[in-house]
Amino acid sequence: MRFSKLLIPTTKETPNDATLASHIYLVRGGFIQSVGGSGLYNFLPLGKKVLDKVHSVVKEELDRAGCQEVSLSFVTPAALWQESGRFEKYGKELLRFKDRKENDFILGPTHEEMMVNLVRQTVQSYKQLPLNLYQINLKFRDEIRPRFGLMRGREFLMKDGYSFHSSTEDMQREFALMEATYKKIFTRLGLEFRVVEADSGAIGGSGSKEFMVLAESGEDTIVVCDACEYGANIEAAVRKEKECEAEAPEANFSRFYTPDVKTIEALSEYFRVDPYYLVKTVAKRALYDEGRSEIVLFALRGSDELQEVKACNAVDANDLVDITEDELAEIGLIAGFMGPTVIPEGVRVVLDDTLKDASSLICGANEKDYHLVGVSFAGIEAEYFDLAAVQEGDLCPYCSKPLRYTKGIEAGHIFQLGTRYSEPLGATFLDENGKAQPMVMGTYGIGVSRLLAAIIEQHHDEKGCIWTKESAPFDLQIIVSNIKDEEQKMLGETLYEKLKAQGKDVLLDDRKERFGFKMKDYELLGIPYAIVIGKKLQDGLVELICREGLHTEDILIDAVIDVVNQKV
Ligand code: ATP
Ligand code: MG
Repeated sequence: MRFSKLLIPTTKETPNDATLASHIYLVRGGFIQSVGGSGLYNFLPLGKKVLDKVHSVVKEELDRAGCQEVSLSFVTPAALWQESGRFEKYGKELLRFKDRKENDFILGPTHEEMMVNLVRQTVQSYKQLPLNLYQINLKFRDEIRPRFGLMRGREFLMKDGYSFHSSTEDMQREFALMEATYKKIFTRLGLEFRVVEADSGAIGGSGSKEFMVLAESGEDTIVVCDACEYGANIEAAVRKEKECEAEAPEANFSRFYTPDVKTIEALSEYFRVDPYYLVKTVAKRALYDEGRSEIVLFALRGSDELQEVKACNAVDANDLVDITEDELAEIGLIAGFMGPTVIPEGVRVVLDDTLKDASSLICGANEKDYHLVGVSFAGIEAEYFDLAAVQEGDLCPYCSKPLRYTKGIEAGHIFQLGTRYSEPLGATFLDENGKAQPMVMGTYGIGVSRLLAAIIEQHHDEKGCIWTKESAPFDLQIIVSNIKDEEQKMLGETLYEKLKAQGKDVLLDDRKERFGFKMKDYELLGIPYAIVIGKKLQDGLVELICREGLHTEDILIDAVIDVVNQKV
């Protein structure tokens, strides 16, 4: 295609709200355009081209793995979501609206209900299973903070796939196939990624894995072991049981005056005790369906931090929110002196696993200026859960080597669902004995539009984008340095036609602009290679630029086609 005819509105202006390289370059390069600055984007010709490239890599690999593409209605009847029980649970991210007949609808943020509805009407027998159906379609989530451009939009393109099976074993086979397929997709796109164990959320179930594109700017903290394969989202990470070398404080159970000693740090200093033996008590309000809520005290060792997603799952809540000191005081809890032992009525207590049977502890007395010493949980029945965030340096649960943190962008998520949706929605099949059974499901997502941002986060420099081979909007750009020079122009046209005839996707920069201006655009757009036809033409040479590293080499005009064929 010809640059002079294409709509590529490049600009030097950095969008006000942009901090990430991908957001800045995708807008500055004229790939996307913000609509009203609220997580909505138009894809301009170049952006649409990249989106289609990524789309086709995803589609090719899925089709090869035996998945079948469908396209479901974006507008979803609310009734389906009421059937599954998610209409309430999903919260404000779900955009709800009515049609002219006052019927309730939503814009699909994900399509489990819709796909189950499709399958329950069409599949009756075990003979029709397994089935893996997917779509690459729009999703809408009314995100509280849409940001970072395509990374966290409100309307975005997702590949969502759902598989249906007659047994758990068969679903697990498909889950493994999808993991392998996703690895192929991310590898083809030129991404450095890690597959990590993920939080399965309130849905429960075991296997859930995320595909994390490794990038400093990633919103997710992931815990990785360098000695073995172990990796997990911090929301799901586990560690080898921790031991404390410091001596345990010997004391009989008693109430101790601790004036104004409110923090773990202060308490540790006051008693000269390792924080491991102190109990940290965090109060949260847990929110449930139909506006119901309760106050929960989460207690863990003073050396640990509360992992909120784990805490939220422990009480099966939709969300956890902070409570003010005043709200606490109203029910008789005093910030800085809270503890999980003597508690006001109606307050729920959840203890971290590491407190099970623990003794020699110090915790708040739920009384101003007092703590309890010599506290023991030996033999105490309570709600115990893993609530603690794994920290850097904690040991790997598999190989006992130190764990470290890194940052990732969640680009894909695969999930062993079981019968979470098929049961409430009545998606059953008749087994070999003619008995009705709920279908066993898996679900598999890829953030297709987010991938554009992820690719650029991993592949850019201070000048602009560096697209990977399979994601690039064009294979090659030909830059005619001075379009008024007939000889340069002629060679540009000839090479352009020849390479096109060979099936290469070429962008010919034939604009009447200065060379420096065109180069800046080349660097910003990030097409993997460029041929520059300039002054060296007199010596029978053109320049080949590799966008990655901006390396250049001179090549003889006669050799251009061969060299390009080797590289592209
Ligand atoms: P996140 O934790 O980033 O909000 P999620 O876990 O809610 O994502 P899933 O429900 O697993 O997302 O959706 C599947 C995929 O869709 C994600 O792995 C991600 O790549 C993509 N995705 C989710 N939310 C957005 C968004 N707001 N904008 C762009 N892509 C998104
Ligand atoms: Mg996810």
